[in-house]
Amino acid sequence: MAHEYDAVVVGLGTMGSQVLWRLAQAGWRVLGIDRDHPPHHLGSHHGWSRLIRFAYFEHPNYVPLLLEAERGWSELERASGRTLFERCGVIQGGPPRSPLIRGIIASAERHRLDVEPLDLAARERLPFSLPPTWTVLMESGAGYLHPELCIETALLQAEQCGAEMCTGQQVTRIDDTADWLELHTPLRHVRAKRIVLTTGAFASDWRDWNVHPPTVLRKHLFWFQPRHATSWHVRAGCPAFLFDVGESYIYGFPAHDERGVKLARHDGGMEIDPASEDTELGRLDELASVQKFIDDHAPGLRSEPSEHAICRYAMSEDGDFRLGVSARDSRVVWASCFSGHGFKFAPAIGTHIAHRLLESKWRPEVQFLVG
Ligand SMILES: Cc1cc2nc3c(=O)[nH]c(=O)nc-3n(C[C@H](O)[C@H](O)[C@H](O)COP(=O)(O)OP(=O)(O)OC[C@H]3O[C@@H](n4cnc5c(N)ncnc54)[C@H](O)[C@@H]3O)c2cc1C
Repeated sequence: MAHEYDAVVVGLGTMGSQVLWRLAQAGWRVLGIDRDHPPHHLGSHHGWSRLIRFAYFEHPNYVPLLLEAERGWSELERASGRTLFERCGVIQGGPPRSPLIRGIIASAERHRLDVEPLDLAARERLPFSLPPTWTVLMESGAGYLHPELCIETALLQAEQCGAEMCTGQQVTRIDDTADWLELHTPLRHVRAKRIVLTTGAFASDWRDWNVHPPTVLRKHLFWFQPRHATSWHVRAGCPAFLFDVGESYIYGFPAHDERGVKLARHDGGMEIDPASEDTELGRLDELASVQKFIDDHAPGLRSEPSEHAICRYAMSEDGDFRLGVSARDSRVVWASCFSGHGFKFAPAIGTHIAHRLLESKWRPEVQFLVG
């Protein structure tokens, strides 16, 4: 006989690990299934660091969710005794009329967030070379998350609350009957009263269940060694950063391990088939962009990368996330299109999806994402 669950979570990466944890915490009999062994390097979550910032240039509507996510990360840290969030501060800079700067100021003002403009003397103490005409803002309570550790920890906590897990198995089909939803992998067949689809870059596989399909972009991450080690290290006070350099948005992280300083371009990216397992350097425009950033604004870094990685952005049309309930069967709830900025929100998204399942309604804070 097939095993039976209150809910099955399909996809145990960034969002699925948090949903599994919350449902298990609520006492539901839950199973999580993943085609891989999360954390892994074939989704959207690897690369050792993810920015977390609160004065959100993308839109002030995200701020309540961000503050909820911050509380969720703290709860996970307390429950596990692990440090997941490095509060090293984030500096963001660009021309004063840049959408980045205007967006940060709008969110900070609307939500009374602590963002401090840096004067020229304060900028001198940082290892960047930034034009004096730029506005440069420091958000001291921001920083970065350790994504692999975050996912591993949420899954561990879920297991400790009674969740079951099945990894290395792809869910290939879901059938709906009056009493149950039936899930099939090549090796297993299980039944669930509810299903959550959090399959990231693979969300298009579930179009039949009305999951919003993302456009998947191949994104490069690069690591560079500092010419003189200390000033770029997180322990030396180097913050994480995001700059509007005109032709692109470049972000990065201070050195915190032997890999050095991580740099990447947020915009751009080549559309790919999510199933491709290509990890070689592709088009070199992303490398050229970060090397130009080094030449112009970070001369203390060596210009040849010491390491690189490929990751996937699962984009919506407007860069906002999408959450929903399947129009085909309201027992299926999904979340997709985290558009290259979803990681930091994971505990809040996990809580809201769990709430939708437990209470059969979305909380007001996420209404702008439901569709
Ligand atoms: C290069 C890069 C940099 C980023 N930087 C930031 C940042 O600084 N800050 C930030 O907040 N966000 C950032 N993001 C975005 C963030 O990492 C993603 O939004 C987030 O990881 C998406 O989570 P997810 O759960 O949708 O996908 P994933 O974490 O990839 O999880 C999806 C899971 O579903 C599984 N799966 C798929 N199909 C099936 C199936 N049929 N059966 C079983 N399992 C299945 C996959 O194996 C995978 O484990 C970045 C993303 C990238 C790629």
